[in-house]
Amino acid sequence: MSRIPITAGNWKMHKTTEEASAFAEALLSDLPVRAGGAMEIIICPPFTSLGSLQQKVYGTPVKLGAQNMHGENWGAFTGEISPAMLVDVGCTYVILGHSERRHIFGEKSADIGRKVAAALAHDLRPILCVGETIEEREAKRTESVIKGQLAAGIAGVTEDKAETLVIAYEPVWAIGTGRAAAPADARQVIEFIRRELAGAWNVKTSERCRILYGGSVKGENVFEFVQDKDIDGTLVGGASLDAGQFLAIVEETLKAYR
Ligand code: PEP
Repeated sequence: MSRIPITAGNWKMHKTTEEASAFAEALLSDLPVRAGGAMEIIICPPFTSLGSLQQKVYGTPVKLGAQNMHGENWGAFTGEISPAMLVDVGCTYVILGHSERRHIFGEKSADIGRKVAAALAHDLRPILCVGETIEEREAKRTESVIKGQLAAGIAGVTEDKAETLVIAYEPVWAIGTGRAAAPADARQVIEFIRRELAGAWNVKTSERCRILYGGSVKGENVFEFVQDKDIDGTLVGGASLDAGQFLAIVEETLKAYR
């Protein structure tokens, strides 16, 4: 079954509104025409730039995503942003359970699962991140860690929403370190994730869900990942901050799907 590949950029806490607009202009002026329709290109800026970027990307192949959200739609949750608010500023996607949310801000898998369900209830597409630390990998606990993160993350996802959910396998030790996983290792974990999804739903439904790799992806190494039919694209941090580098990743991804 063919799944539309994704290149998604996670800007983390980078760029003012002015810098974000300049990036969008550079990206849109050089975006290959064939990217539209053949793949999905997603940028996930800080909340503060979503509103202005909504105008810039409207009617283009570029979609907007947020980097986090609260699971409730409104209420006394100082400092939080709700799913409805993200939809209001033009988001189609939302990254949930990024390793920095889990490990720096202490988010628990059960809370992340509630956010995934809340996003889907508002027609936002979650990019659910899962991944093991280096200690967990060395202790041969990669599969058990991912199994737990995944089970909690998809607990509220019904089969009919499988196509809307995106999973990003991001080994924590590969994020921002310049040390990407070996493509064969990434593939092994991604195959495991798909088997788990098949167990939770069924094989056919599991094949509809897109699974990305993330961790030190750049123009020079992305092809090794996306040429694998089991890896449906990439979630990119550092290299997504520069329009030229991000475009190189888009180009390489298109090449793999020619
Ligand atoms: C990320 O933040 O999701 C990420 C993969 O970062 P980097 O590409 O910089 O490793």
